[in-house]
Amino acid sequence: MKSLTLPEIGTPGTQKIPYLKTDKKNANKYVYYFGGGKADGNESMKNLLGGKGANLAEMAGHPDLRLPVPPGFTITTEVCTYYYANEKKYPAILKEQVQNALTVVEKQISKKFNDEANPLLLSVRSGARRSMPGMMETVLDIGLNEKTIKGIIKHSGDERFAYDAYRRLIMMYADVVMEKAEGKEPRGGKGIRKVLDEKLEKLKQKRGYKFDTDLTVSELKALVKDFKATVLKVLGKPFPDDPYEQLWGSIGAVFSSWRGKRAVEYRLIEKIPDEWGTAVTVQAMVFGNMGETSATGVAFTRNPGTGENKFYGEYLLNAQGEDVVAGIRTPAPINDYSRNEQSKHLPTLESTMPGLYNQLFEIQKKLENHYKDMQDIEFTIEKGKLYMLQCRVGKRNGIAAVRMASDMYKEKLIDAKKAIMRIAPNQLVELLLPMLDPEIQKVTKPIAKGLPAGPGGAKGRVVFSSDDAVRWASKGEKVILVREETSPEDVDGMHKSQAILTTKGGMTSHAALVARGWGKCCIVGCADIEIHSNTKSFKANDGTFIKEGDWLSLDGTKGLVYKGSMGLVDIDLDKNESYKIIMDLVDKTKLLGVRTNAETPGDAAQGLKFGAEGIGLFRTEHMFYGQGSDQPLFLLRKMIVSKTEAERKLVLNELFRYVKKDVKDTLNIMKGHPVTIRLLDPPLHEFVPHNAAKLRQLSQELGISMNLLKRRVLALHENNPMLGHRGVRLGISYPEVTEMQVRAIFEAAAELLKSGQKAFPEIMVPVTCTESELIHQKKIVDRVYNEVCKELNIQEIPYLYGTMIEIPRAALRAEKMATVADFFSFGTNDLTQMSFGFSRDDIGGFLPIYLDQKLLDDDPFQTIDQEGVGELIKFGTERGRKTKPHLKVGICGEHGGDAESVKFCHRVGMSYVSCSPFRVPIARLAAAQAALEYPIINSSFNNN
Ligand code: PEP
Ligand code: MG
Repeated sequence: MKSLTLPEIGTPGTQKIPYLKTDKKNANKYVYYFGGGKADGNESMKNLLGGKGANLAEMAGHPDLRLPVPPGFTITTEVCTYYYANEKKYPAILKEQVQNALTVVEKQISKKFNDEANPLLLSVRSGARRSMPGMMETVLDIGLNEKTIKGIIKHSGDERFAYDAYRRLIMMYADVVMEKAEGKEPRGGKGIRKVLDEKLEKLKQKRGYKFDTDLTVSELKALVKDFKATVLKVLGKPFPDDPYEQLWGSIGAVFSSWRGKRAVEYRLIEKIPDEWGTAVTVQAMVFGNMGETSATGVAFTRNPGTGENKFYGEYLLNAQGEDVVAGIRTPAPINDYSRNEQSKHLPTLESTMPGLYNQLFEIQKKLENHYKDMQDIEFTIEKGKLYMLQCRVGKRNGIAAVRMASDMYKEKLIDAKKAIMRIAPNQLVELLLPMLDPEIQKVTKPIAKGLPAGPGGAKGRVVFSSDDAVRWASKGEKVILVREETSPEDVDGMHKSQAILTTKGGMTSHAALVARGWGKCCIVGCADIEIHSNTKSFKANDGTFIKEGDWLSLDGTKGLVYKGSMGLVDIDLDKNESYKIIMDLVDKTKLLGVRTNAETPGDAAQGLKFGAEGIGLFRTEHMFYGQGSDQPLFLLRKMIVSKTEAERKLVLNELFRYVKKDVKDTLNIMKGHPVTIRLLDPPLHEFVPHNAAKLRQLSQELGISMNLLKRRVLALHENNPMLGHRGVRLGISYPEVTEMQVRAIFEAAAELLKSGQKAFPEIMVPVTCTESELIHQKKIVDRVYNEVCKELNIQEIPYLYGTMIEIPRAALRAEKMATVADFFSFGTNDLTQMSFGFSRDDIGGFLPIYLDQKLLDDDPFQTIDQEGVGELIKFGTERGRKTKPHLKVGICGEHGGDAESVKFCHRVGMSYVSCSPFRVPIARLAAAQAALEYPIINSSFNNN
């Protein structure tokens, strides 16, 4: 054995082990073997072995499985942590452990690494505890050099195959180990992979070949020579001949790729902590590119696009795994079910290799039954023998997630609890996603068709590079990213786009996998269009020409591409049986009530449809915006600039009927479910007209001069309106405004009750900070209540009187506030604003810097800052309930629809959360998950 080119290592016994191991038996065990029916690890060890390593161990070693897995070993994530904590050195004993494991692999497969007669070739792959598709590096065919290649040729009997593997190794190694890991990658320029790739393409063009497989032995030999010379010239170092140098170089490069730009960006988006590190799996190579009896493929135990319980996958004859994912050749379907537009003419695996297909079919069934979840599997067939290379829980879009959870529950594969936990609350958004208007679709001809990789409809302006997508999106443009294929470098641009369209690749290509994970509209393999990157344009087969900036509409559910900007419509949830089954389980499980925030009777109806149990915030002022608001807004303006109480009262009388109608319609729609009606909140000057014609109309109506009117308007100006004359302060300065609203509420409710309908208003006072404010307003409420009961001759109008808690002082004085209030509703928009002192309207100016520099983990206006604002909520709830043990407590800030915040509200023991209609299903699911994750018995839940 030649001397190893290992990175410098520490002295045994003196190394800093980054953290203590709890398992004494395995202390300092850094390498875990698997293969031949045995494994040191298992599926539960993902944190240590990464997802890939743990699942390979499970597949190889679990007594129920013992599947044909090529032997190998996994270097633990602890080594990654050590590597970064110790200036890229390894623990001293690692070398010996790797060597020992390698010897076992050699015995198992009866081949030897660096052996000229019968050489073993290895793959080196990454594997974090959560899958990060394509974000880190892989090196294949390690162990080839001018000597070992002779053994490969002898044993395979295939010289062409051997040189094909050799040129792949040089290209991958030069790119991953010699360039990227060394930090030599030219920024935005041409990397070594591209340089070598161009040489390959040029050669193919010169010879008139379509596929790599057309290259002859002598052409491949010459290419290998050329590749080596190019690597030396471009990178200033020769490609290493020593297999051990290749092996350790690759291991180091995979660890380095954990901190690569792509991986770091992906972790930021997916919120994967840096400290997790990656494991490295070294495994005996098996070859799908050994001729027509070899193949490689990717499959799913159920359809990841629809959730249907059908084995679904793609394969390529005579190819290596990377060819399937890279989308270079159109993969063939494994069975008839997996056929699509692009692959419908290709022979299935089931028909070409029926025996092997059956074996694969049985294995996938076994795997799904074992893991009790949909598995994404990679397999290779080497000269008629099937090998399993990977299995993991498959990514799926929201529609498929709901269908699978509900089907598996019906099949009794999983219980209700698992079914509920299987769906990420935000995935439900996809079921509520708009789609292209089917009426417009019926009369519009698509310009192209591709594979439906991500559902829903989307429209945007075309861009052709990820950088452009990011740039345009930052200016507020909605964009669609159009590429031949995507690579992990494109992740940021893909994330910022409304949708992704690629011309190459199948349902398992990079674009499809990533988009599916995010639930983004995506069409792949759209061969009907040809991109001209130099002119930033594309041409469709039907002759349509689209250039950068033109509008495009995509139907990701059917794979159709349309020119122009098409209308989008909402999906009919009533037709989704799987959704109904899941949401039924959800409602039986959750303890928190879920209400909707509704600005209009239309919102209220939408919220009800999505399962809201009441309205948690009805912002009355919204009747002054939008459709039909002209007259009420005019009256409100008149009221605002009125000088005397008498003037104001006159206008309020006119305004009254509009307010009453709005309240009555909403109470009526909600049929006795509680409706929290908030008294007028915004600073009045927000409603003052700035347009001269409107001002003139107002001055005429009021019979005052323009000058006088302007002076009155000026007097309303405030320097800090958010902290100014708003909320309850208006009701205190102008009690007649409170009186008008309260009368409208009571009369609306009384009339409904008298006509046999149900109504349950909850009157909510905003922006309070002292109990005296609440007492002040309560006096008006009590008086008006008695008057209305008398006038309308009604015994009782059931209602509650409560307050928003949105000023820190109100939370701190909760014990006192609860002496007057029947309920609290945390207004976490303002509570966050006033706790942080961050303006909710202007935080965009500096928030990105805070997030980039990790000064904040999240935008506190989107997800509750649990340790700050959350403490106020906890304190306020506890103190309020000290006064009134059954005090109803809810939340109506934007956070009420954020899954993490909903779970927090459950833990605090709130009665309900309230959010915008489209987030109601998300909140319901999050509430059920919270009930399962944090089982607490709290009587307050019955109080929603
Ligand atoms: C809040 O402050 O959280 C709230 C719901 O009220 P608004 O957003 O209307 O200020
Ligand atoms: Mg508020």
